[in-house]
Amino acid sequence: MDKLSRRRTRRQVLKAALGGAAGVFLGAHVLPLTGSAQAVSDGDGTLKLSDDLFVVRLPGEANVVAQTSADGVVLVDGGSAGSSDGLMKAIASLPGGGRVHTIFNTHWHPEQTGSNERLAKVGAAIIAHENTRLWLTSDIIWPWNGRRFKRLAKVAQPNKSFYTTGRLDTGVRYGYIPDAAHTDGDLYVFFPKQNVLAVGDAVSGQGWPVVDWVTGGWIGGIVGGLQRLQTLADAETRIVPARGPVLNLADLKTQYEMYGTIYDRLTQLLNRGRGPGEAVTAKPTKEFDAQMGNPDEFVRRAFESLWAYLSPDA
Ligand SMILES: [Zn+2]
Repeated sequence: MDKLSRRRTRRQVLKAALGGAAGVFLGAHVLPLTGSAQAVSDGDGTLKLSDDLFVVRLPGEANVVAQTSADGVVLVDGGSAGSSDGLMKAIASLPGGGRVHTIFNTHWHPEQTGSNERLAKVGAAIIAHENTRLWLTSDIIWPWNGRRFKRLAKVAQPNKSFYTTGRLDTGVRYGYIPDAAHTDGDLYVFFPKQNVLAVGDAVSGQGWPVVDWVTGGWIGGIVGGLQRLQTLADAETRIVPARGPVLNLADLKTQYEMYGTIYDRLTQLLNRGRGPGEAVTAKPTKEFDAQMGNPDEFVRRAFESLWAYLSPDA
């Protein structure tokens, strides 16, 4: 992607972030992390959320949400390509499991899109935000570690993209998370009957998140996304992130306070002319590190992400 169009994307995202109905309040709240937001894995294996809704967890893979019905299966994300055979076996063995007719890509990362090709070839709808579809047509490089991502084959690219919200015939609702918490193409899927909200990597359930600023993600978006998603959930809603255990509304609140605090500290460092290395040294996450783990990569990426959004020429 050339620089011009990437800038345009960032501008569009910033506009969306500022204009979002939920608004973005980035206040200086400091609350200790409480118990339930802990970054502890539930372990592997299938988790039953209801008679027809499951979280399929293969070792080392991102969570996949599967809804079964007589008409077939709806998936939220499809694991990596290497795990796709195992995932399809796990889904076929679910109670009521059958043919996958619809798969959502919560964002473009290969940990989510590895089953696209096989499912598209058997006629499945692949639903994604339009920005995600565009990223999947581009080769992408992460400058911080040199990781390269090849664009997907045409057949594997999302065949049903959207901009704001949508709804399946079964009543399942989905929508864009325009804050750019993880990428600029994040989506949520809400299962109203089961009161389950799948959020992909817009919320991290396990450790510090990857801030993929190359494709639009930023620390301000993490805060904004957490605020927005709280408006979609109630105290009973089970919230399924791409990584880690099932969360609830209280967890989102706790994370919102934590990332709000970190955002404030990082923007203060930026405003004082500091760089990413100095941001790491300043330990802006210090009271959270015992629970969350080594923050250095996260802090560096989060600080860099501010450049895209808050620098005058962004
Ligand atoms: Zn991701």
